[in-house]
Amino acid sequence: MLEVSALQVNYGRVAALSGVDLTINDGEIVTVLGANGAGKSTLLRAILGAEPARAGGIAFDGVDITRMPAHARIARGIVLVPEGRRILISLSVEENLLLGAHMRTDTRAVRAEIDAIYQRFSNLAERRHMLASCLSGGEQQMLAIGRAMLAKPRLMMLDEPSLGLSPLFVSKLFDLIRELNRGGLSVLLVEQNTGKALAVAHRATVLELGKVVMAGDPKALAADPRLQQAYLGDGAPAPVLSA
Ligand code: ATP
Repeated sequence: MLEVSALQVNYGRVAALSGVDLTINDGEIVTVLGANGAGKSTLLRAILGAEPARAGGIAFDGVDITRMPAHARIARGIVLVPEGRRILISLSVEENLLLGAHMRTDTRAVRAEIDAIYQRFSNLAERRHMLASCLSGGEQQMLAIGRAMLAKPRLMMLDEPSLGLSPLFVSKLFDLIRELNRGGLSVLLVEQNTGKALAVAHRATVLELGKVVMAGDPKALAADPRLQQAYLGDGAPAPVLSA
């Protein structure tokens, strides 16, 4: 479904991604792990079209989208739930959801999908006419995912969705990711919660300083001493993989 090949992205003269390859097959959850500054967010933003590729390519459903503007990629079924969620706190919960559907004309279907989101998340239903600033961090994350779903994506990219959430919401979040995936959605997940990300993913890739240093079966990666030392220990993630 998605084929990223030899992707290079620079910020000025600094290379944030240096020749990254990544494949996502239809119906897969793929997780991208790595320490701070490894280039994970840059990769997601480049796939969305928010950062230009300096070299390399991105194909979606066999179509080269490397130079396509972000809105055209979204129309093809790619969405990003960015780090920090970026919901509009001065708009109501419902207005935030409607924003996710702004490119759609099937208003009846949109209404039904919004009602389904309310059924699933009663906290959002109860606060539908309140400002989104009234929501807890976990509720805001659910709203951000709900809003992204209203764009009818086939590939959802999530950047650090569990950041700052209570353990209860973290487990609700991973349940939701599994459920959306069972419904046919492909997922590209960037997470600091390495254990949970490897548990939910079909495949995993580890980035370090803009390069892929490990890739493959999440169970094998979880058992790899280098990954355990770098990301699954008690301490903060440390870029030691290529040392
Ligand atoms: P984090 O977990 O901290 O979000 P990350 O793996 O997502 O890290 P990126 O945010 O993609 O990493 O950053 C990759 C590199 O690019 C880092 O060296 C970072 O400092 C740099 N970088 C990111 N955004 C910009 C920007 N807008 N301008 C300049 N440099 C940037």
